[in-house]
Amino acid sequence: FINGTAALTWITSFSERFDSTQAYLTELDRLAGDGDFGVNIASALERTRAGLPPATEATFTTVFQAASRGFMATGGTSGPLFGMWFRDIAKGTKNDAAAVTDIAQGIAAGLSTIQKLGGARVGDNTMIDALEPASAALTVAAERGSTPGEALLEAALAARAGAESTANLIAARGRATYVGELARGVLDPGAVTIALFFEAGADTVG
Ligand code: ADP
Ligand code: MG
Ligand code: MG
Repeated sequence: FINGTAALTWITSFSERFDSTQAYLTELDRLAGDGDFGVNIASALERTRAGLPPATEATFTTVFQAASRGFMATGGTSGPLFGMWFRDIAKGTKNDAAAVTDIAQGIAAGLSTIQKLGGARVGDNTMIDALEPASAALTVAAERGSTPGEALLEAALAARAGAESTANLIAARGRATYVGELARGVLDPGAVTIALFFEAGADTVG
């Protein structure tokens, strides 16, 4: 189970990983988009950290609700999409701590929401290229009865491979469609950020 304290550590580690990768992600969005990705997500994470519940009151749900609120109010395409995703993750459990099956369900529900709103599919060079395989890996791990740490490790490996796959893709959604072939070789920053999120989970959740 992932309780409030573990969820706090997960989000904090995600934020730290993002901070040390922000300049690189901005560069990716500059090459394939409009260069605001790093600033957009940094502001979302700042609002998230400010809105996190204290450790004594934190539950899995309240931590992910804070992340959802922090991302929802962000400019750019990716902030609100992450915000909706975190909202569905928060709703994945009715208890203070989330089981692997809750997390797998919440993440899959959030994936559907993002796809309903943005229309992207695997191969369109967006965050979906990392999120879809990560969600599939989590579902399989949950069915197998894996621990949260094992399940998140498998999700992280799938997300990272999915993010790397965007190097060879030409965008079919979002701003990167404007540059077409020029973005070949450039990873999608949204997909890399999904990988950072699951890697943070795998490293911090037991
Ligand atoms: P903007 O393009 O509005 O400046 P950001 O720079 O905040 O938005 O985010 C860009 C990221 O948003 C991309 O790297 C991609 O992963 C994601 N993205 C863009 N369009 C979509 C979409 N339709 N569905 C899913 N993700 C998308
Ligand atoms: Mg941008
Ligand atoms: Mg923009």
